[in-house]
Amino acid sequence: MDHLRLERFRWDAENCCGCKGCIWVDPIYVQGKDYSIRCPSLQRFKFDSYSALGRLKLALAILNGSMKITEKALDIIYQCNLCGACDTGCKRNLDLDPLMVLEALRIRAVAQGAGPPPALAQLIRRVRDTGNRFGLKRAKSAAWIPEGIKPSNRAKIAYFVGCNASYKNNSIAQATVKILEHLGIEYALMEEESCCGHPLFVSGAASEALALAKTNIEMLSDAGASIVLTSCAECYKTWKVDYPKLLDKPTSDMPYKAVHLVELLAGLLAKGGLRFRGPIEMKVAYHDPCCLGRLSEDWTPWHGSRGPNGLTQPPKPYRRGTNGIYQQPRQLISAIEGLELIDLPRTRENALCCGAGGGVLDVYPEFAAFTAQDRLQEVIDSGAQAVVSACPYCLDSFQVAIQSTGHLLKAYDISHLVSLALLGHEVAQ
Ligand code: SF4
Ligand code: SF4
Repeated sequence: MDHLRLERFRWDAENCCGCKGCIWVDPIYVQGKDYSIRCPSLQRFKFDSYSALGRLKLALAILNGSMKITEKALDIIYQCNLCGACDTGCKRNLDLDPLMVLEALRIRAVAQGAGPPPALAQLIRRVRDTGNRFGLKRAKSAAWIPEGIKPSNRAKIAYFVGCNASYKNNSIAQATVKILEHLGIEYALMEEESCCGHPLFVSGAASEALALAKTNIEMLSDAGASIVLTSCAECYKTWKVDYPKLLDKPTSDMPYKAVHLVELLAGLLAKGGLRFRGPIEMKVAYHDPCCLGRLSEDWTPWHGSRGPNGLTQPPKPYRRGTNGIYQQPRQLISAIEGLELIDLPRTRENALCCGAGGGVLDVYPEFAAFTAQDRLQEVIDSGAQAVVSACPYCLDSFQVAIQSTGHLLKAYDISHLVSLALLGHEVAQ
């Protein structure tokens, strides 16, 4: 997979100017020092080494042969959420691709046999052996289907449930299928659904992630589906961005379209196809999941060359994070009577990660909890009574942070609120 090798991003590593746009949210968006840091890793470890700036220097040293991937280097490489906040910040100043360097560093670590850290290696083994990240028996994956719900055998839309909602946060999958049934939307489930491969990709196990991508794409086509519907932001980004990235193809050339539940529902809302029942009186803060927001823009490969001052030929397309899925969840929340939507200081492409991203929840739970608590404090300070997101991993992070701090705040997935507003009753969490 030559196109993802660290050497391909030497220019990005060499041209970091140390401006720290990857660390701070632009003061146009956040005034003052509170909630002005965009990098969870820097926030936690307080050293530039644990920011995109430091990691780009590390990448350059590895490329130049002046540093090896030592245990400390591995710690720096993997104590990062791969949340892309640095990438968005950097592109406000320079056209660099720090996130590609961070991903390529992990691929290099695995290729050299130095990485991934043991907990991620175990996670890879679980996905390999059982087809899901929890290492549970596959038969359990359909146990969540509520009574009376009958998906079609074949349909244009395949609901890809994902490991988390299949095996853990079943209420998200249940709310999703109840919404689909209520709206009369035909869908199928994939037979023998496997993990999307997100844990493999973020570990740096690119070859294994590619093999799984090919298998999943084939299964989708065998199921006769052309739309893969997800309620998980990580699965969404994996199908929409990482599969094409691994295959070195543009998203637009993939034989399917990835659609998140909020996109489907917002489309119906715009056409007057959603009728919400009585009010839900609550002030809610919407948390943008990284994988649904800044990381979800279409992937477009670039194989050009650079001239003087790094000018690219043909022009390189950049993903700046501003065209993520931001409006749709907000439109849905705003359309539900009684819900008052609050925007957090770090919002949309500047949102802080929930702490779970990049395998951090699996390998460094203490770091994940630190970041979730920081984000939770931002929610509390906003005056919201609940935090809402559109990814089961964000829900996990917030629930753990709420439990450990004893806050009275509630955490929801957006499918919970939409199903409550549509059906008039809550799907038990
Ligand atoms: S914003 Fe970009 S150029 Fe500036 S320090 Fe960070 S990685 Fe380097
Ligand atoms: S991906 Fe996120 S955690 Fe990692 S360096 Fe960038 S901003 Fe920091």
